Amino acid sequence: MLRNRRWAMAVWALFLSMTAEGCISVSAVAPPVVVKRAQMHMGTVVSITAVAADATAAQVAIEVGFHEIKRLEQLLSTWIASSELSQVNTAAGRGPVAVGQETLELVLRSLEMARLTEGGFNIAIGPAVEAWSVTERERIPTQEDLHALKPLVDWSRIQIDQQTHTVFLPKPGMRIDVGGIGKGYAADRAVDAMKKAGAHGGVVALSGDIKTFGDLPGMNGFPVGIRHPRQEGNLIAMIDLKNEAISTAGDYERYFERDGIRYHHILDPQSLEPARKCQSVTVIASEGAVADGLDTGIFVLGPERGMALVEQLPDVEAVIIDDRGRVAVSSGLRTRVRYP
Ligand code: ADP
Ligand code: MG
Repeated sequence: MLRNRRWAMAVWALFLSMTAEGCISVSAVAPPVVVKRAQMHMGTVVSITAVAADATAAQVAIEVGFHEIKRLEQLLSTWIASSELSQVNTAAGRGPVAVGQETLELVLRSLEMARLTEGGFNIAIGPAVEAWSVTERERIPTQEDLHALKPLVDWSRIQIDQQTHTVFLPKPGMRIDVGGIGKGYAADRAVDAMKKAGAHGGVVALSGDIKTFGDLPGMNGFPVGIRHPRQEGNLIAMIDLKNEAISTAGDYERYFERDGIRYHHILDPQSLEPARKCQSVTVIASEGAVADGLDTGIFVLGPERGMALVEQLPDVEAVIIDDRGRVAVSSGLRTRVRYP
């Protein structure tokens, strides 16, 4: 999980071009100061922007943000054998594993997203993700292969004991993969840490999973662009985010093509094949974990059921691009989006 070989960003935070990499730009008259830095974590480019009273405070906030992301990666990455989730996965079919509060919380949030999206979002999907291995082996599994994996991807079998803080996967071969929600969650936690460190505003962007707080000096929030799913380098819309998170799931980020068919990394838990109803789903919510979990789940649900869900949920908005490239914007967003 969390190890993306993603060369294209799902959402372009345009404000990033306003400050040069690693540089400090002081407003002409007075502070605040805006500082931006980027590092690789969770298999992707993480860029953090801090708005603070002075350059030192901004640098400290950025350090704290990166530190938080590195800490969470050690807990949650299934590419790290010692991580809590790896230990849960290793013990599948054998016994429950005690985990910390954050891992438990993320698994609980994930199950909530699974219920909301009628199983479209599924943290037990890992064995099927591996069978496809979209970014490495690029193999098309047979129907028999996929059928055999069905019992392993049943998220309703994940057992959580909140008293003992344990997670148990009852069947050998089951595993938990938080690749579809973990980056949004990490952005939330990094923003909390930056606020505590004294930043007035900022942005944490783990590739296309972005969380903002406060304002860019002289602006209302932070302007963010939503990428066109079929025209690299073009945006389909812009929006100003104010204390909000945005996350995009797209079929153009990690995929391979065979005989003219695109095989991408978001799987429909019913068929265990790439979900076919959308090209991209962008969700805006107050929390990154919600935006990230829902984008993946709604991508599976498709535009109609997905938009119906968004309209039901308070403080959740979306831009859904269906399989034919038609764009749907949720009611609360229509007056906020700008088209280039
Ligand atoms: P990213 O931002 O990394 O592209 P997404 O939020 O689009 O992530 O989620 C895609 C990742 O989630 C996949 O790489 C895979 O690990 C996992 N995944 C694939 N299908 C599903 C699904 N139906 N539910 C939950 N996670 C999924
Ligand atoms: Mg997601």
